Amino acid sequence: MVFENKDILELLERYRVIWAISHATSVLHWDSETYMPKNGIMERSVAIGELSVLSQKLLLDEKLVSLVEKLDGLEDLNDYEKGVVRVLKRNIRIMKALPPELVRELAKTAQEARPYWKTAKEKNDFNIFKPYLEKIVELEKKVVEYLGYEEHPYDALLDFYEEGLLTRDVDMMFSKLEPEIRAVLEKVLENDYYPQKHPLEDVKYDVDAMRKVNMEILKLLKYPFESGRLDESAHPFTIHMGLKDVRITTRYEGYDFKRSLLGTIHEFGHALYELQIDERLMMTPIATGVSLGIHESQSRFWENMLGRSRAFTEATYELLKKYLPFLKDYSPEEVYRYFNTVRPSFIRTEADEVTYNIHILLRFKLEKLLITGEISASDVADLWNDEMERLLGIRPKTYSEGVLQDIHWSQGSIGYFPTYTIGTLVAAQIRYHMVNELGSIEELIFNGDYDAIKNYLRDKIHKWGSTYPPKELLKRSFGEEFDPTYFTRYLREKYLS
Ligand code: MG
Repeated sequence: MVFENKDILELLERYRVIWAISHATSVLHWDSETYMPKNGIMERSVAIGELSVLSQKLLLDEKLVSLVEKLDGLEDLNDYEKGVVRVLKRNIRIMKALPPELVRELAKTAQEARPYWKTAKEKNDFNIFKPYLEKIVELEKKVVEYLGYEEHPYDALLDFYEEGLLTRDVDMMFSKLEPEIRAVLEKVLENDYYPQKHPLEDVKYDVDAMRKVNMEILKLLKYPFESGRLDESAHPFTIHMGLKDVRITTRYEGYDFKRSLLGTIHEFGHALYELQIDERLMMTPIATGVSLGIHESQSRFWENMLGRSRAFTEATYELLKKYLPFLKDYSPEEVYRYFNTVRPSFIRTEADEVTYNIHILLRFKLEKLLITGEISASDVADLWNDEMERLLGIRPKTYSEGVLQDIHWSQGSIGYFPTYTIGTLVAAQIRYHMVNELGSIEELIFNGDYDAIKNYLRDKIHKWGSTYPPKELLKRSFGEEFDPTYFTRYLREKYLS
């Protein structure tokens, strides 16, 4: 038995209703993004909003809160039980700290801001979005005050998305990353084995054939279709209803097939995390991935360390060629180079492994300055362009390919971006330790021995769910905290040798 303490058992029983609401809400979200008829959106939004209010009420229920308080700090709980208490305590703390009016105003502002952000982006006019960004930043500053922080105001927002993450952690990561990335980039561009542009990026594919490719690849990776699905949506995502129903989506743009393929593998990585959580944790507060950063480490591990590896392009070449006949003009080596083009570019979501984190650094710097009030929303657009030029040597000609490109700020998500970098760094860290224990990953991939990789990830990360907070999970599994040097070493090995 994982859960034995009498009070924990009662707590879990009370929690089960909250879990049921989140289960139902996930189905609603999944449906909204995939098959819901367009006109369903109004009633659906109300339904989801009401369910979230209900769920908050249940979480702040006196009996539940007092059980958590009673159990907090109790030494004779096992690790799983302590995890349950930690997660609930954190959720209650955040929910209690934020006044409902503020939460409502943020949600309302975000909802209003979204169409203006969209129009601003389409018309390349930052002024259309500016007043909303101003308002969102002001509200986020209030969130910071209510949540509280010890060192830096931005800590409050970071912790909201990545439990325990501090501004100084992110400062440390980027101070090591920035010079390394720039050095690697310079050399990659110089010796041009990895091309800046590849002809396959413009080649159109047959969407039905590409659907088959994605299905075949998922079968190869043994994505369990009895516990999951692959559907299509405007923005690919993974969603879990529980441990036995974890669904992913992909999209088909009709050209540049690696986007759809690597996107599918990325979501597979997210899904695998949820699918490999210890079944005994089912329907509890710890039956999900522990944080956005650790989740992203799983998706990026599969997308980059596996999907973009030479072994993978070699092992899947015949399969790809069967459905995508235009590949007959390209060798596996060429496909590998196509998967790994490197160039300074404006758009974060299209950035390669080498330059990606520079895009995050830029956003991190600006967000920090916005939250401390050192700059205001009206400074952001030009600062963005200046920083881009300093960091990557290119200057956006339009706001649409600069400050207006991401949806995050319009949704009120400030403090979210650094979790992407955590994901990249942790993926490289895991890869290093995996090689130490299992030997060459390339060999495993080439031989199709994905089980060895999956089992390793299960034991080190997945099976624990949210039992341990992110930093502690890494310490327990690898004996160390976040360490950016694994990533820079990985870049050097892959791109410079
Ligand atoms: Mg992701």
